[in-house]
Amino acid sequence: MNRGLLIVISGPSGVGKGTVINEFKNRPELKLVFSVSMTTREKRPGEEEGVNYYYVTKEEFEKAQEAGELLESAEFVGNWYGTPLKEVERLRDEGKNVLLEIDVQGCRQVKKKVPDALTIFIVPPNMEELEKRIRGRRTEAEEIIQERLAKAAREMEMTNEYKYVICNDDVKLAADIISVIISRHMERNAELSE
Ligand code: 5GP
Repeated sequence: MNRGLLIVISGPSGVGKGTVINEFKNRPELKLVFSVSMTTREKRPGEEEGVNYYYVTKEEFEKAQEAGELLESAEFVGNWYGTPLKEVERLRDEGKNVLLEIDVQGCRQVKKKVPDALTIFIVPPNMEELEKRIRGRRTEAEEIIQERLAKAAREMEMTNEYKYVICNDDVKLAADIISVIISRHMERNAELSE
């Protein structure tokens, strides 16, 4: 059995990453799994330990970080989140392809520890479309929208750090292209280990 791939998917807020991932994540031939992250934030009603997250204290998180047990980590509105390296390795050893949906900073950390990670960046057809999509949610204050747009513009300048850049102007098409990329990498892995 071949070791699974580590797949990183990034893209600016509003680009439709989640929708694209939902379109292909259950295709059986792709053997995809999501790793469960560690977080210091409180468990929300309906969430389960080991399913949504592993809930830890700040001290436990810091200990894991210092011991090099996290593949990547980030702070988000006062709480810490990280991907446990051991969990990812275990899943890959089982032949599963592990999918991480993380930002550009997280991807940089992953590439340092796993240079052969398959990195994919999803871009909008153009920035006007992205703005339309972010505004279309109608859930956020203007200040937050401006922040998200500025962050998106900065991230779009870092797409050269990714192996593949896929445009999401059609969800099904973007999902099909990513499926082909994953399948080809699985085949190549098999060829290399023959
Ligand atoms: P929430 O608290 O709503 O579950 O997540 C807050 C944010 O943390 C989301 O943007 C989510 O994508 C991000 N996040 C969740 N797990 C991880 C992780 O393991 N690493 C990183 N870098 N971000 C994460």
